[in-house]
Amino acid sequence: MKEFYQMTSQEAKIAINGSEAPLTEEQVAANRERYGPNALAEGKKKSVAQIFLEQFKDFLVVILIIAAIVSGVLGDFESAAVILIVITLNAVLGTVQTVKAEQSLDSLKKMSAPEAKVLRNGQFVKIPSAEITVGDLVSLEAGDFVPADGRIVENAGLKVDESALTGESLGVDKDSRAIEGEAPLGDRLCMVYSGSFVTYGRGEFLVTSIGMETEVGKIATLLSTTKEKRTPLQMNLDNFGKKLSILILVFCGILFGISVLRGEAIGDAFLFAIALAVAAIPEALSSIVTIVLSFGTQKMAREHAIIRKLQAVEGLGSVSVICSDKTGTLTQNKMTVEDYYVHGRKIKADDIDLNNPEEMQLLLTSMLCNDSSIAEGKELGDPTETALINIGSKLGVSYETERAACSRVGEIPFDSDRKLMSTCNRISGERAAFFERAEKSDVAEGRDWMLTKGAVDVLLDRVTKIQTSGGVREITERDKAEIAACNQSFSENGLRVLAFAYKKIEEGLIPQLDDEQDLVFLGLISMMDPPREESKAAVAECIRAGIKPVMITGDHKVTAAAIAKKIGILKDESEACEGASIDGMTDEELREHVDHISVYARVSPEHKIRIVRAWQDKGNIVAMTGDGVNDAPALKQADIGVAMGITGTEVSKDASSMILTDDNFATIVKAVENGRNLYKNIKYAIQFLLSGNFGAILVVLFASVFALPVPFAPVHLLFINLLTDSLPAIALGLEPHRRELMNEKPRPADESILTGEFLARIGAGGVSICVMTTVAFLIGYHGWFTAADLGGSALLGSTMAFGTLCVSRLFHGFNCKSDRPVVFTRKVWNNKWLIGAFVLGMILITLAIACPGLDHVFKVQTLGLPQLMTVYGLAFLNIPVIQLVKAIREKLCR
Ligand code: ATP
Repeated sequence: MKEFYQMTSQEAKIAINGSEAPLTEEQVAANRERYGPNALAEGKKKSVAQIFLEQFKDFLVVILIIAAIVSGVLGDFESAAVILIVITLNAVLGTVQTVKAEQSLDSLKKMSAPEAKVLRNGQFVKIPSAEITVGDLVSLEAGDFVPADGRIVENAGLKVDESALTGESLGVDKDSRAIEGEAPLGDRLCMVYSGSFVTYGRGEFLVTSIGMETEVGKIATLLSTTKEKRTPLQMNLDNFGKKLSILILVFCGILFGISVLRGEAIGDAFLFAIALAVAAIPEALSSIVTIVLSFGTQKMAREHAIIRKLQAVEGLGSVSVICSDKTGTLTQNKMTVEDYYVHGRKIKADDIDLNNPEEMQLLLTSMLCNDSSIAEGKELGDPTETALINIGSKLGVSYETERAACSRVGEIPFDSDRKLMSTCNRISGERAAFFERAEKSDVAEGRDWMLTKGAVDVLLDRVTKIQTSGGVREITERDKAEIAACNQSFSENGLRVLAFAYKKIEEGLIPQLDDEQDLVFLGLISMMDPPREESKAAVAECIRAGIKPVMITGDHKVTAAAIAKKIGILKDESEACEGASIDGMTDEELREHVDHISVYARVSPEHKIRIVRAWQDKGNIVAMTGDGVNDAPALKQADIGVAMGITGTEVSKDASSMILTDDNFATIVKAVENGRNLYKNIKYAIQFLLSGNFGAILVVLFASVFALPVPFAPVHLLFINLLTDSLPAIALGLEPHRRELMNEKPRPADESILTGEFLARIGAGGVSICVMTTVAFLIGYHGWFTAADLGGSALLGSTMAFGTLCVSRLFHGFNCKSDRPVVFTRKVWNNKWLIGAFVLGMILITLAIACPGLDHVFKVQTLGLPQLMTVYGLAFLNIPVIQLVKAIREKLCR
């Protein structure tokens, strides 16, 4: 049997589907059943049991297991059992957290899964690429990934980057003709292969193989479930955690030595040193970051920003420049045609006269040189083009009828570098009369016409004639000046303007870029694209938050400046410049100017990279939007590449770190706000964990220096560290958002999370917890304020210290809610998770220290009500103390 590349497209269709007709719904269902999903097999995912077992691989848990064994060997079976139970509970908690975090990351991945346009029920619809099956007809255009292998059946200048497969970095020009004889992969021009992407043109292909049967599937080793790279913050914390761990281990070693010298049993001293190490080492730091980030990204997804790379969330908090496209991001992308300029006159759209040949010719051209359509009331394609067919329908001219009567026989697709689009249409009958009025044409015979539309300045350079009411004549400089003036006046009102031209071509000519010359100027059409309602407020918020909003657009400078002024990006005309003027600047010069430019017009994708770099060189963190295939390098270069979910190409989405599902500038600003909040929340969670650990160490140090009995049994420290500590930390990560964060300047990107001020806060919290716990210990130890018959003892002291340390930390959670003294305001109630974690922790600790019968298990003396109240009271004191410190600090710093 012939290979698909050796068959004509008709033969291929028959070979695959049995006929040339497209797949029916039943056939699609049958093929999907038969061939399975269009996906490369993934490496096996870890099961929940595996994740659970992995919790025991942790260095500290291994030490604890050893400690349990030592306890058992020493005959202290209760301690051994408690340690093991606590470790197991901790592992369950860890598993739940890991699974939840993974689930939320998975759902994010699903949301940003690639899509493709496939013919189903007679219409091209967007579906997830995984749902494509053999025999499907897939439409391709610039910026699409090829989602499966297949035979090209329609080709309009398709150029495909196959470097992932063949290593060839130049785009391959495709051709739909069958190939005779054998040909290597790279030479099978009528085929497209999964994993490559379209850099130019348009086309359709018939799917011949999917999933692991594709060429890339055959060479791909199993896709590993790609592990998220650790974020800079996580790396920073890992590093810090390592250093701190060493310090703590040394400290515990010394403590162990001192205890042995003092004559304590080696086994007990060892167990205590280990428990202290486990309690003090902040092993949960980076996993808390993952959990908080993954929950945060869920919230962001609900607010239309899908995070593709976790690092982006941290970066968002320090974004200082947002470079945004205009069309669709700052504006609504709901274009409506406003005016026509034809045969030297400006005409309002509604006043077009269908009996006037020039006006009718312009209307016709705007519908034919156009790829958009309307299916079941839904607009498909570029809104600029839909506006053109909408006005036609309004005037009673159907684009479908016109396109059927003037079939397209060739085209040069639009591209944002060239800013032009051309189609070749075979026009005959009465419609041809409009075009045939041309005075004289070099091509006398034939019915084919090239219709071109595009940016006014670009098109004006390519026209040599002009269509007037008196016929076609040479275009003069005066005509051009008039057209430019008209363009200027439309643009000053913020209107988007397209110019239209045409020429007769040889019948059957396959158009090349060089053919877009010697055109006959036909007219202009202006369109209104109003700014999004929320853009103005979002721009104002950016400026308040110390972020520079910059508009980068392919549109005309005057139009861009008019819109930018309306939404507050531009104050003075001098802040707008054109891409061409960047060409004349060196990188150094651009760096110098970049601060003063708010609007870049007539920009091509290469300019975008230079603009991002210039900002970055000045130490800024830049978010940059992009939608086209050529935007991918700039999106990669930006710190936060932002792709458009609705209008963006698949290639741009792939290169981005965040996708906007509503294409809205305001969503970027919201994401920045979320980023800032998440960073703050993570900081609070870390502050909570570290100050508690620091408090515990200080208490032990105090007891050791003053030769008091050891204030905690190992099981106490494990209880706090493993059971009552991580939930408040996570809850702090879920603190509700603070709007006031957008009144601050962006956080410097290189600022370490562990600033002096942050460490001072941790220190203050630690000291306060230490003081309360030590007082509790001394009360219990000496039997102060207790009935004479009870007396004091080391056990009572230790129980009260355990209770106070644990409850202090729970209360301290509320201290960590904010940098400001907010506990005695309504804000204290605004985090239900924190309240939940507090209540749960209180129940657990109260059971441990006050429930008769558990005293052996937890190495405590069951407390009566007075001691319990003392514990609660002392622990609560942490709140007023720290709030007072915060209030004083705030006063002093003002
Ligand atoms: P932004 O970069 O803000 O999205 P834009 O949509 O104007 O702005 P491009 O899509 O690169 O940017 O378009 C650049 C120019 O090309 C436009 O200003 C317009 O003059 C012209 N143009 C846009 N769309 C088409 C089209 N479908 N056919 C022909 N010319 C077009």
